[in-house]
Amino acid sequence: MNAMLIRPVRDFLNQTIAVACLALTLVPSVWAWSDHASLVWPLLRSQPELIHQTVAAEPLDAFLIAEQEGIARTLAAVESWSVATMEHYPPTPGDLRWGTDHPPTAERFFAATRVNPMLPYRLYVDLSPERAQPEQAPLSWSELSFLGGGSSQLAARYWAVEPGQPVSIAEVIASANDEPDFGMDIGLFEDNGTDFGQRYGFGIQPFGNPNLEYSSQAPFHMGFYHLDWLTRTAQPALQRTYPLWRIGLFGELAELAFTTGHDYWGWRFLGWGLHYVGDLTQPYHAIPLPGVGTADALWSVVQGKTGELVQLVSNRHGVIESYQYQRLTRALEAQQWSAPLLEAIADHADNSTLEYDSFVMALTADSVEAAADFDAAIARNVPFRFVSDPSFEWTGSGFEQSIVQRVADEQGEPAIAELDAAVIVQLARFSAVASRWIARGRVTKPPSQGESQ
Ligand SMILES: [Zn+2]
Repeated sequence: MNAMLIRPVRDFLNQTIAVACLALTLVPSVWAWSDHASLVWPLLRSQPELIHQTVAAEPLDAFLIAEQEGIARTLAAVESWSVATMEHYPPTPGDLRWGTDHPPTAERFFAATRVNPMLPYRLYVDLSPERAQPEQAPLSWSELSFLGGGSSQLAARYWAVEPGQPVSIAEVIASANDEPDFGMDIGLFEDNGTDFGQRYGFGIQPFGNPNLEYSSQAPFHMGFYHLDWLTRTAQPALQRTYPLWRIGLFGELAELAFTTGHDYWGWRFLGWGLHYVGDLTQPYHAIPLPGVGTADALWSVVQGKTGELVQLVSNRHGVIESYQYQRLTRALEAQQWSAPLLEAIADHADNSTLEYDSFVMALTADSVEAAADFDAAIARNVPFRFVSDPSFEWTGSGFEQSIVQRVADEQGEPAIAELDAAVIVQLARFSAVASRWIARGRVTKPPSQGESQ
C-alpha cells in the first residue's frame, strides 16, 4: 500500500476516533448501553434461582488474604494466556505481579490487575427496579466513583452493604455489570497524567485525546478485532484494544472465587466481565465506522469530507444510545416485562462451555455484521438533522431526553416500530451472549428436605 494513500487514511481514522471519543466524553450518560445494571435486569429476573438465592457480601481484603496463593496461580495463568493469545497485549510489568512474597493488599491487587486504584471498590448494591428502597440513606455517587456521573448515576439507587450481609445474586451481577464504567479503566495509559499510568505498561493511549477524562477507557471498552487489512496497515494503533483481556481476567478470577467458596466475589467478578461482553455487542463498539466501507472512507478523504462523515457516525452513535436508554428505562420503570424490548433480553438457556477467545471473536464478528443495517435503520428513522446533517452536533444538543418524542412527532409511529426492531436485534444478541456468560456462575443448591447438613 502506497504511503501517500496510507497517510490520509490514518489522519482520517485519527480524526474519527478523536470525535467519537469526544462524544463519549461530553455526555457521560451515553456510555455504551448507558446503564448496564438496568440492561441486564430483564434477563436476571427470568432466572428465579438468581433472584432468590443470596450470597454473603465479603470485603475484597478478606478474599485477597484468604486466596493469596490461588490468585497468584490464576493471574500467572491469565498472563501466559494473554501473551499467547493477544498479539498486541502489553505484558504485566514484573514488579506489579501478584505473588506470595508480599502482603496481600488491595493496592497490590489493583496494580496486578492494572485497574484504576482510586475507586473504593466497596460493598454496595445498585437496587433492583423491583425492590423497595431500604430505610437508611443511599450512598451518594461520589462515594462510589471519582467521575462526575450522569443523571442515572446521580439518582438515589446505590446502597451500602455490610460485610456478611446477604445480597441476591441477581443484584450482585447487575451492580457489578455497571462498575467498569465507574472509572476502572480510566487513566491507565502512560500519557494520562496518573502515576499508575506510568507504571502499568500500556504505553501511550492508542487513540482518542489523552487529555479527556473519559476517552482513556475507550481502548478497554471497544474491541476492534475485525479490522480490514487497509485499516490495520494505516492505523495499527486501533489494534490495541483490550476487552478480551479484561473478559479473560475477570472470568478466571470469578472461577477461582467460585471454586474456593467466595461466591460473592465469584458473581462480582463475573459481573465485571459481563460489562465488557455487553459493550462488545454494541456495533459502535466493535467497528470504528459502522456503515462506512473502506472505499467510501477513502473517497471522503479524497473529497475532503472526512469531518462530515465522522460527525454523522458520532451523532448516530449518540442518538441510538439515548433512544435505547429512554425506551428501556421507560419500560423498566413501568415493569412491562412482556414488552418486546424487555422480552428480547429474557433468558436464553445456554450453558455450553466457552473459550474466551472464540467467544469474543464470534460475538464481535456478529456486531460488525449487524453494524451496517443498524446504522441504516438509524439514518432512515431518526429526524434528518440529528443523524444526517453533518453541521449538527448531537452531543450536548439537549435532545437526549426527548429523542423518542422527537422521532414519534417528526417521523411517525412506524419509525418508532422500526427503531425498536433495530434495537431489539442488538438486545437479543446481547441477551444470548450474556446468558451464556452468566451460566458460568455457580448457584449452590440448597440442601433438599431430609438431607443432613
Ligand atoms: Zn463500558
